[in-house]
Amino acid sequence: MPTARLNAVTRAAPYHYLVEILPETTPINPSPWYGFRVTAEKKQDLRIDFHYPGFQHRYDPKLGASNGTWRQATSAEFTPANDGQPASLQVEVGPESLLVFAQPPHSPKNFEDWIDSIEATFPIKRSVVGRSVQGRALHLFEFGGGDNSPLLIIVGRMHPPESTGSGALFGFVETLVADTPQARAFREQVRTVVVPLVNPDGLAEGHWRTNIRGKDLNRDWGPFTEPETQAVARALLERSEGEGRTVAFALDFHSTFRDVLYTVTEDPARVSGGALSRWVAAMRVHTPELEERPSAAAGGSPVFKNWAYCRFGAPAVTYEVGDTTPRAVLVALSRHAAVSLMEILAEDAGRASTASVPTPACMAAAPDDD
Ligand SMILES: [Zn+2]
Repeated sequence: MPTARLNAVTRAAPYHYLVEILPETTPINPSPWYGFRVTAEKKQDLRIDFHYPGFQHRYDPKLGASNGTWRQATSAEFTPANDGQPASLQVEVGPESLLVFAQPPHSPKNFEDWIDSIEATFPIKRSVVGRSVQGRALHLFEFGGGDNSPLLIIVGRMHPPESTGSGALFGFVETLVADTPQARAFREQVRTVVVPLVNPDGLAEGHWRTNIRGKDLNRDWGPFTEPETQAVARALLERSEGEGRTVAFALDFHSTFRDVLYTVTEDPARVSGGALSRWVAAMRVHTPELEERPSAAAGGSPVFKNWAYCRFGAPAVTYEVGDTTPRAVLVALSRHAAVSLMEILAEDAGRASTASVPTPACMAAAPDDD
């Protein structure tokens, strides 16, 4: 079963099981993804205790029915870890399979289906820009603008458990391709490039963090040791070339414990009137408590945001969605984020400008050409 993770099961008592969840490698970010299927010959209550040796429970269980619907385990069904007692699920199971997952999972196929659904209503240009270690396609699609239009770059899902981040990416991109006067005008002026799934192997294998070789792909935008980051970087660099072409903005969608925007401290677009400053202000009209956390790209870790800023001189943001942010809330904010950014980039694209983009002083290493 794609995206599943379950390392061991032991029977503690009748109808009482201990499941052990382990990471794919250590040390690792503590994002203990799990996913498994439960059935019983006849209907009965089953107790499942969650053990994460060396780690702590993070994702409360989501329950998937055989009809494809998902729900959060109720407080009557799920007891969080406390006082040395493990997190524990008590749930009725029967002959129909019940899925127990950290989050409602996305498989690589779900991403392809999502791109298909966009293509069914809107003309996009699709490419496979490379292959993962296990040979899965790395899909890119692009739309809007002309040969020299500014680029909007959107990437996501370097980290397998971060499904709320993908939910925001979907809402954001669907707003850009919508049949609205604003989106139509935006697409005349700006070319958008989307790579929604950078780590298909890690996703398919139910990893906590890394690609199939145990590498964190959002620490590889500089070393470029992994085929996934090499291929995506090469594709983005190719698309950024051309006389007068600039990158207007870059976004990388993730999930963490809360909604937060990670930005680049030295980015000139953060000063008052700059594109990034205006966008963050617009986001706070919708969500006043939304936090912006800048960190320096120079000497910073080789994350996508720093690479995009250093390579392109563009505002670059890690768009983090809370693990528990409700779907309706994250979709509403992502749509507002897209509407706000379209307005700002369309304004800036409409301004006659001959100024070249200043090259930041933190240029990261480029991937090899071959
Ligand atoms: Zn992440």
